Amino acid sequence: MTQQATAVGHAVRATYLYSAMTDVAGLSGDTAYGAAVDRLWADVVAKRLYVTGGIGSRGVVEAFGEDYELPNRNAYTETCASIGNALWGHRMFLLRGEGRYVDVLERILYNGYLSGVSLGGTRFFYQNPLESAGESDRTDYFEVACCPSNLARMMAQLPGLIYARRGDDVFVNLFIGSRTRVQAGGASVAIAQTTRYPWDGTVRLAIDPDRPTTMALRVRVPGWSRNEALPSDLYRFAESSREAVALRVNGKGEPVTLDQGYLVLRRRWTAGDTVELRLPMPVRRLLANGGVQEDRGRVALQRGPLMYAVEGIDHAGHALNLVLPPGAPLATSFRAGLLGGVQVITGTARVVDAAGAAPRDVPMLAIPYYAWNNRGRGEMAVWIPTAPR
Ligand SMILES: [Zn+2]
Repeated sequence: MTQQATAVGHAVRATYLYSAMTDVAGLSGDTAYGAAVDRLWADVVAKRLYVTGGIGSRGVVEAFGEDYELPNRNAYTETCASIGNALWGHRMFLLRGEGRYVDVLERILYNGYLSGVSLGGTRFFYQNPLESAGESDRTDYFEVACCPSNLARMMAQLPGLIYARRGDDVFVNLFIGSRTRVQAGGASVAIAQTTRYPWDGTVRLAIDPDRPTTMALRVRVPGWSRNEALPSDLYRFAESSREAVALRVNGKGEPVTLDQGYLVLRRRWTAGDTVELRLPMPVRRLLANGGVQEDRGRVALQRGPLMYAVEGIDHAGHALNLVLPPGAPLATSFRAGLLGGVQVITGTARVVDAAGAAPRDVPMLAIPYYAWNNRGRGEMAVWIPTAPR
């Protein structure tokens, strides 16, 4: 029989406690601690994680809720809880070396964490709801000022989450333009990463050891690029994408074989070697586990690691009356002049103006969730009904 564990209580404190337990497991080799954090992480990812990566559904004692208790309008999802969950996920990766922990960390970083700050960097969310009737607005300060300072601390910590090393294995965990230098296979290896991620899924790595060396480069292949929305059954893509991940080493195509969420390139590296990874980024519809009552009959939109939201300002002042039928075609394009430059999702939604009224078609525009509430207060939804209610 499998032992169960349930994450309960204050979500921020819980993730910091679980981070410490994960460190104890790693440093002491205590398998009981390791098994406990495995079960807790599996519980959070299966039943308590918002599609934005947020956790801590309840405002009362800032707590995890019951199984599948993930309300959208009243989602508490404190910015600090997202940060705590990301830091815990990083420690779980360090303990286990598996890509699924970074998959969840990435979902948090680009969505529920990033929404905590305005595009200008001066206004903050304490709570990060997935739906608003216009009541939510970032503010410039809180009496309990944990979130702004924690958010800034996390931003400064971000460079340390991109790469990792274990013996002669070098991990590329996040796709962020960057340079690093690691010691592997007895050489000093410079790595330069070039990418437009998250707008484009092409990632180029220049590998320059100071002398030829044998090492394994482990590049994370995100779950979303291989039809896995989350490493649990909490969310799933409505349809499978047939677009495949492609890999080229020194310009030559190579098969993509995965080990624990990573493609592994174990070979002799010499200065000037290049790796190019192409992660296809079609627009995806996401569905929630039937246990999540609030998301039944609704769909969310994802492209690459980003979750999308519809805002009232783009729909004649309303977003909560939009309906997105299954199969309605969706397109994507980059709008340099919108919200600092964002990839948007467009299509045709239906609006029902009043009960019993005939639905009419309207152009739909979805923006990355993190960028909402940067053009004033208004209605917003991540989970869009697929039929009139
Ligand atoms: Zn906080």
